[in-house]
Order: sequence, then C-alpha cells, then structure tokens
Amino acid sequence: MSSVGCCAGGVAAAGPADEAGEELALDEGVAGPALGGAGDGRSCAAQPANASAALTTAASSLVLLRNGNLGTLRGMASVIVVGDGPGGLSAALFLAKNKQDVTVFAQNGSWMNSALLFNYLGLPKITGKDFMAIAKQQVTDLGGKLVDAEVSALSTSADGFTVQASGKSYQAKYLVIAMGTKLEIVKGIGLPARAIEADRNGRTSVENAYVVGWATRPDKIQAIISAGDGAAAALDILSKEAGKDLHDFDSVD
Ligand SMILES: Cc1cc2nc3c(=O)[nH]c(=O)nc-3n(C[C@H](O)[C@H](O)[C@H](O)COP(=O)(O)OP(=O)(O)OC[C@H]3O[C@@H](n4cnc5c(N)ncnc54)[C@H](O)[C@@H]3O)c2cc1C
Repeated sequence: MSSVGCCAGGVAAAGPADEAGEELALDEGVAGPALGGAGDGRSCAAQPANASAALTTAASSLVLLRNGNLGTLRGMASVIVVGDGPGGLSAALFLAKNKQDVTVFAQNGSWMNSALLFNYLGLPKITGKDFMAIAKQQVTDLGGKLVDAEVSALSTSADGFTVQASGKSYQAKYLVIAMGTKLEIVKGIGLPARAIEADRNGRTSVENAYVVGWATRPDKIQAIISAGDGAAAALDILSKEAGKDLHDFDSVD
C-alpha cells in the first residue's frame, strides 16, 4: 500500500483499510442486459436498456465497479487534493471510496460557507455550511484524509508532486488542483495562475496534474459543476491506475 509520503518529519497520511474487491469486466460485444442487472441483479439494476447498450458500445474494455470496489487496481495511488470546496471534496470522495490514498489540504475557506443552495440537484434546500459538513464527513468516513493546512508551494518531483504545507513536504503521484481563485502557487508546476486549461477529465498540460471547478471555470461558478469536475478527474485517475476505463456504480441488492 502506498501512501501520501511526508518528508521532513511530517505526518504520513495513512491509507484506508484494504478490502477485497469485486469487479465486472465487460469485453467488447457484451450485450446491454449484462450491464442492466442480469446475473446477481446488483450491478446497474436501474440502468435502462438503452443506456446500458450505449455504455457497452462506447467501451471496448470497460470495467464496471460494483459497489465501489477496485479489486484489480495495481495498488493504491497517492493523490493530493488542494482545496476543500465541492470540487476537491468530490474528487476525494470518489478516490477514497475506491480505496485510493487521498489527502485533502485546505482550511475550510470555500465560498460555499456563504451560500444557500436551492440549485444542487437532489437537495431542495441546504446551507453551504451544512453541505460542506456532510461532504467532509462522507470523505473521511470512506478513508480520505483532511489536513487543515494551507499549501504554500507546489513542485514536480521524480515520483509526481511535492506539496509544502505547514513547513513540511508531502509527496504524491497525482495532484488535483481545486483551489478556486487563489492559484498563484500552481506556477510552481508550470501552470498559469488563472483559468487553468483542462480537458473534459480535468487533465492539465502537466502529466498527472488535474484541475477542477472554479479554478478552471472562472465564468461558470456553480457548486454542482465543481462537484462534477471533481468526479470526472477522480474517475480518470482511477482509470489510469486500472489501465482501462472505470465507472463507479452502486445499486440496491
Ligand atoms: C455568496 C455566494 C453564494 C453562492 N451561492 C451559490 C449557490 O446558491 N449555488 C451554487 O451552485 N453556487 C453558489 N456559489 C458558488 C459556489 O460557492 C462555488 O461554485 C463553489 O464554492 C466552487 O467550488 P470549488 O470547489 O470549485 O472552489 P472553492 O469552493 O472556491 O474551493 C476552493 C478551496 O481551495 C482552498 N485553497 C485555495 N488555495 C489554497 C491553498 N494554497 N492551500 C489550501 N487550500 C487552498 C480555498 O480556501 C477553498 O477552500 C456561491 C458563492 C458565493 C460567494
């Protein structure tokens, strides 16, 4: 099990406990109903047939994670997320749920703390503060770590990225930039300090560095967009680690 490394006497973040994994590998040509809940009836039971067919067509070697297990990943990748708004916490949730070693650095500075949400799908009305408390609890319940510290510097290293916070150095293979508008330190890894460009999966021009939410969309600032970005980046990291496309689906038994 790898973990977020910490040098200079810092706190090495411990990873979540390992669990036996389970996955359903879908080879090219597998019929839609196989995705739609045939077999043990658990996986994607609620998927409409056409959605299943579309998924099957789109994925030549897609792996559908059942109930969040990543049993065949090569190992536990270390990921540092900088920023604890909905973008960073969403990325951390997906990564922690799938047994990756994820650490979020932030100091509860999200603008969400001032918001009253009526436009987050599935939640008719919630204060941003309550939303943030629930989101953080979700992340830590699944093994993600929250470090109450401001990141002062970012740099690339032979193994990925080095993050300086509270006078300590932390290492990780992947970096997720979820820092809203305070982006000055990303210059340390060669990225611009405003509106960092990314593809649909949050990939930046720097290998294994992702950017999500407000940090990449300064003109489309909505909590649910940031959360979606975080999920996309996390799935991309999980897929890279697995060497094939992954989805994280759960269903009722
Ligand atoms: C008054 C107000 C009301 C709003 N109402 C709504 C609404 O009703 N609905 C809606 O969808 N959106 C609303 N928003 C917008 C919403 O707050 C943003 O869309 C959302 O916060 C963006 O999330 P994010 O994760 O991209 O970035 P942010 O939430 O900005 O999170 C960035 C985080 O990174 C941290 N950070 C930055 N630099 C560092 C560093 N060096 N080290 C450690 N941490 C760092 C910041 O402190 C912060 O915690 C509102 C915003 C405001 C200001």
